[in-house]
Amino acid sequence: MDPDVIARLRAAVGAGAVLTEPAAVRAYECDGLTGHRAVPAAVVLPLTTEETAAAVRILHGAGIPYVARGSGTGLSGGAVAISDGVVICLARMRSVLAVDIANERVTVQPGVTNLAVSEAVAGHGYFYAPDPSSGAVCSIGGNVAENSGGAHCLKYGFTLHHVCGVTMVCPGGEVVRLGGAVADPPGYDLLGVVVGSEGTLGIVTEVILRLVPRPPACITTLAAFDSMEAAGAAVSAIVAEGILPAAVEMMDRLTIEAAEAAVNAGYPDCEALLLVEIDGPEAECRTVLAAVDRICREAGGSGARVATTAAERALLWKGRRAAFAAMGRVSPDYYVQDGVIPRTRLGPVLRGIRELELEFGLRVGNVFHAGDGNLHPLVCYDGNVPGQSERALELAGRILDLCLAEGGSITGEHGVGLDKACHMPRMFSADALAVMARVRDAFDPEGLCNPGKLLPTPRLCGEVPGPYRAHPIETAGLAERL
Ligand SMILES: Cc1cc2nc3c(=O)[nH]c(=O)nc-3n(C[C@H](O)[C@H](O)[C@H](O)COP(=O)(O)OP(=O)(O)OC[C@H]3O[C@@H](n4cnc5c(N)ncnc54)[C@H](O)[C@@H]3O)c2cc1C
Repeated sequence: MDPDVIARLRAAVGAGAVLTEPAAVRAYECDGLTGHRAVPAAVVLPLTTEETAAAVRILHGAGIPYVARGSGTGLSGGAVAISDGVVICLARMRSVLAVDIANERVTVQPGVTNLAVSEAVAGHGYFYAPDPSSGAVCSIGGNVAENSGGAHCLKYGFTLHHVCGVTMVCPGGEVVRLGGAVADPPGYDLLGVVVGSEGTLGIVTEVILRLVPRPPACITTLAAFDSMEAAGAAVSAIVAEGILPAAVEMMDRLTIEAAEAAVNAGYPDCEALLLVEIDGPEAECRTVLAAVDRICREAGGSGARVATTAAERALLWKGRRAAFAAMGRVSPDYYVQDGVIPRTRLGPVLRGIRELELEFGLRVGNVFHAGDGNLHPLVCYDGNVPGQSERALELAGRILDLCLAEGGSITGEHGVGLDKACHMPRMFSADALAVMARVRDAFDPEGLCNPGKLLPTPRLCGEVPGPYRAHPIETAGLAERL
């Protein structure tokens, strides 16, 4: 990269906040989906909106592409660098700027972790509702970019429903404020456009979030089933009765075994389990619990086993949250798929996934937000077995076919990023994609802000998504991947 650009970046944000050493920048080569990798030329670590804007103006002027990065836990390659481009990492911007309990608002910098928001307001009896399983690590900036969800979004809504306003550095370096602390501003809903735009429209540097009062009572319960289909039927029946639990999560035998091995959560030995959380006034919780217990039995499951202590409740959730990572105990590699279906179709789609397992001879673990119909099939494979990673990817793609055939989506909450850009034409018409491209152009006419993500390009459509395969020259030790 042009040394003059590096010098100007250092002048703007401080010498120590611009990394160029190969060993240092390599740490930013991928996100949580490690199959996509690219080492950036430099990493900029601003502390303020002004520093971020200054860095963006320098890169914009020099025509250098850049990508915003939070904690790098994304599962679609969204924060992967553009080769020879720059990563602007917001992880040092981790101040809670203002807590306004009277108006149920909190203002944070984008590097604040999801969990830290709830921790900052817990003493006031409030919490921040969207709760991705990665909440202890992932950043609010990343949550805004991905419109992240979580177990409790069934009742409380997704990130979109909790972001009231943002400060954003536009791709030309201008600083704008979209939305605000008060509800329903006039004009186009540009905030709605930005939330979920996967870092392609600008860099968010401050976020005003809505807070939710902590409910007076909360019951966490488990029900065991002989089949995923029976558990899926129970979920549909719960919702069909007009019951809205705070969370309904499902795990199959494989993910139960993995989670048990990792955290010893005390899950039952069964083919499928539902983890149901009910919150609200105590009397209401008891009534809903009785209904959930009855519905689970009617669907062929066990009755509801209630966590009796806060520690037991925490352990049940720990097992669920650890499930992705725990898959490493049962498979050398796995690919996390993310698709959505109408929850009434859970049974047939889960059966379809079982049939794909048999057809491909690969195991698929299922752990997901059942109440939202948001599937997370974990396709297990061994990258050292020739051809297996390709088969795993094909299987994962066939799962998306199942979702689309049911009127669902190619992603629920992990985003499109680099990984699924080539799947977008399977879900959207050419006209719809062209409109999206025009929206993007309106924000970023030069195409420097996270290019190659979200929308398909001819180049990406020709690429094979998924695990990185070393070039023969690299395998022979004649070249190194940068
Ligand atoms: C074990 C595990 C469990 C997970 N569970 C869930 C879950 O339950 N629900 C869920 O929704 N996701 C989940 N995820 C995915 C991931 O944690 C979320 O997508 C999260 O929001 C990413 O945040 P991050 O800070 O790591 O973002 P990054 O990975 O750093 O970036 C993600 C995207 O956001 C953009 N971005 C980051 N910061 C900014 C900013 N300030 N301004 C503009 N764009 C920005 C990046 O360019 C990129 O496109 C999980 C991931 C893991 C590894």
